[in-house]
Amino acid sequence: MRVLITGGAGYIGSHVVKALGEKGYEVLTIDNLSKGHEEAVLYGEVKRIDLSDRESIRDVLRAFKPEAVMHFAAFIEVRESVLYPLKYYKNNTVNSLILLEEMIYAGINRFIFSSTAAVYGNPVSVPISESESIKPINPYGQSKAFVERILEDFSKSYGLRYVSLRYFNAAGAEPEGKIGESHNPETHLIPLVLKTAKGEIEHIKIFGTDYETPDGTCIRDYIHVDDLSKAHILALEYLLSGGKSNVFNCGYGHGYSVREIIDTAKKVTGVDFPVVESERRPGDPAILVADSSKLKKTLGWIPEFDDIEYIIRTAWNWELNKRF
Ligand code: UDP
Repeated sequence: MRVLITGGAGYIGSHVVKALGEKGYEVLTIDNLSKGHEEAVLYGEVKRIDLSDRESIRDVLRAFKPEAVMHFAAFIEVRESVLYPLKYYKNNTVNSLILLEEMIYAGINRFIFSSTAAVYGNPVSVPISESESIKPINPYGQSKAFVERILEDFSKSYGLRYVSLRYFNAAGAEPEGKIGESHNPETHLIPLVLKTAKGEIEHIKIFGTDYETPDGTCIRDYIHVDDLSKAHILALEYLLSGGKSNVFNCGYGHGYSVREIIDTAKKVTGVDFPVVESERRPGDPAILVADSSKLKKTLGWIPEFDDIEYIIRTAWNWELNKRF
């Protein structure tokens, strides 16, 4: 069974490549390596291709003939998307459209899409279920919401079957320290906190302490990347066995505030690093917590690593022994 992975050299993509490889799937990664790391791809070949390069996408689809495509390649920074929305609409929306169009021409009709909790914006009720309205408050979320809308229409008209996985906050690393999160520049909370513990950064800034949450800092649902990988495998098996197009939240159903993450990181690392209270970051909703009952019920997803200390410990292990 062949699976084409876009962005397989990135953080979540590389963990899913590993999970697929371990299960015996034949994987091929396409990645422009603008953010990803070739060393992170533990199974299958890596082709350096940009998704705007329609001809190369066409050639790869025709030569590899995948049974399914998993599409991870995207820009992911909320702040950057507010500053440079064009970059996000081009890479995340327009390039997804190119990929989908070429899939349709090639007769490939199973698609797994990396969506995001950012499509919900400031949700009306928490935990958030999939039926919550799609009202992104930043271009990053909007760039993904557009793709979800395109998928809905293509599914009705072109026989495409897709699963859209709305990620909450992916975190942690596979426990052996082979791969992990490595963004440049790093903007995510847990790796930045750990870099502070390591002494690479002077202090960690808390972006906003006046949110309507118990301690005033933002709350997020941190999901271990290996549990998230498992959701992809289940989504693939679901599509392969004839499942209809569907959308699932991926999270644990409870969240931690920025202060709680910092406190847990201090406990796990044993380092009392400096913390500075700072301004809100534009585009940040106060609380994002998943209702993931649909993922559990429909795909049989059973979370294994719902433990914030374990998540931070695996991220710390990676941070101390990084290969890239
Ligand atoms: N955050 C923070 N300091 C940082 C980085 C992030 O306080 O240096 C906060 C951010 O404002 C958000 C939460 O941590 O409320 C998680 O942010 P991250 O960028 O990790 O993920 P996002 O929720 O944007 O996907």
